[in-house]
Amino acid sequence: LVSRKWKVNPTVIDFGDGLRVKEGEFTIMAGPCSIENEEQVEKTINHLVEQGVRFMRGGVFKPRSSPYSFRGLGLEGLKMFYDMCRAKGIKVVTEVMQVSQIAPMEPYTDVFQVGARNTQNFNLLDELGKVDKPVLLKRGISGTIDELLYSAEYIFSGGNEKLMLCERGIRTYETASRNTLDLNAIPILKEKTHLPVIVDPSHGIGIREYVEPMALAAIMAGADGIIYETHEKPEEAASDGAQTLSFPESERMIKKMQKTFTLR
Ligand code: PEP
Ligand code: MN
Repeated sequence: LVSRKWKVNPTVIDFGDGLRVKEGEFTIMAGPCSIENEEQVEKTINHLVEQGVRFMRGGVFKPRSSPYSFRGLGLEGLKMFYDMCRAKGIKVVTEVMQVSQIAPMEPYTDVFQVGARNTQNFNLLDELGKVDKPVLLKRGISGTIDELLYSAEYIFSGGNEKLMLCERGIRTYETASRNTLDLNAIPILKEKTHLPVIVDPSHGIGIREYVEPMALAAIMAGADGIIYETHEKPEEAASDGAQTLSFPESERMIKKMQKTFTLR
């Protein structure tokens, strides 16, 4: 069902009031790795509004390698995040980690993100197939393109056709970067599926200085949008600071992305 052979026209995700994710347009989603406090959310929203960005990302349930790392503010944090975004017309993109979180999160979530560690959590995918909210499905840490498409099939076949795919880098033998952003996946996915393809250069390379070139490369390769991490003080971020852009860096990247997109 997610194949271009089955549906030729690209899937458009409509968020109302003129906001949509659509092939041929370009969507920017940005925000911190983790939601930390009100002040952080307010400063990030101000940055996004100045740049004309309408989607804010931020995790409140964080999948951390170590159980002793910051694991997020949970549902209370999500309510605060959502209320502040809603007041400014910004849509909330946030990760859902397990089935039991879907119902309590739903009133405060505009896009359910499925993280790379959950791409093959088939029970979670089944349940998201029943939800009437867009889903951003990330590629698994060591997942193939076909595995990503089969995971998408779980959600789509369950009845939720508001689905976007996300290339966020895969684990390879390379140690110079956190992951290897698979730019190859972009044209391959665009040919194989009608679903929008969003690229996450932050997790894809994991090194702040190289996020911008990878974002620009993703656009030229045909991505429909970008999701990346930004924070007022990246070095103080609760998670993923090393790959997080400061606001001036984020602003510079947005300006370049806009130019690059018109070149495509
Ligand atoms: C994130 O977006 O902060 C995240 C945990 O991403 P991923 O699932 O791609 O590692
Ligand atoms: Mn992160």
